[in-house]
Amino acid sequence: MNIKDHIRGVPDFPKPGILFYDISTLLAHADAWQVAMGRLARDVRRYQPDVLAGIESRGFLVAAPLAMKLGCGFVMLRKKGKLPGKTIRHDYALEYGTDSIEIQQDAIAEGQRVVVLDDLLATGGTMTAGIELLRKIGAEVTGAASIVELAFLPGRQRLKELGVPFTSLASYD
Ligand code: 5GP
Repeated sequence: MNIKDHIRGVPDFPKPGILFYDISTLLAHADAWQVAMGRLARDVRRYQPDVLAGIESRGFLVAAPLAMKLGCGFVMLRKKGKLPGKTIRHDYALEYGTDSIEIQQDAIAEGQRVVVLDDLLATGGTMTAGIELLRKIGAEVTGAASIVELAFLPGRQRLKELGVPFTSLASYD
């Protein structure tokens, strides 16, 4: 099965000139989603995670079922102000302005092996922020993965520079 057959390219979303890769069609197709999660589980298992971290919000859709398949815990990396209790925040630069990502302080124990998941890797800015936040709280980030990768952007290279191996199911040039 070709996963790409179940990913829809939506032109001019969220703004003119952008081709948005929509995973809704993959999620909605029971067999294709099952295959996708099976393949990603096989690839992510090599990073020997204790915990999977999903990046809000579509990263949750990937990380939560995968964590169950791998017998790992699942933790959320969320936008500012969404998580209750004590949180640790990481601020990062966007093309215009800054953004923040947070995790609950006690979500991960020092030295636990964590793999970060999102639906798509583009410039790598979001994934890099997730990795930096996880490192801040003492996690060992052993890998990163997504459904889709935009190979014409420097995401994979940025993760390599951070020393984090990366895998995806569908790469677009
Ligand atoms: P990056 O930070 O790597 O430039 O962008 C990746 C983030 O933006 C991910 O959290 C992802 O959900 C979102 N994103 C950017 N472009 C797309 C796209 O074409 N499709 C989807 N599904 N998400 C995208």
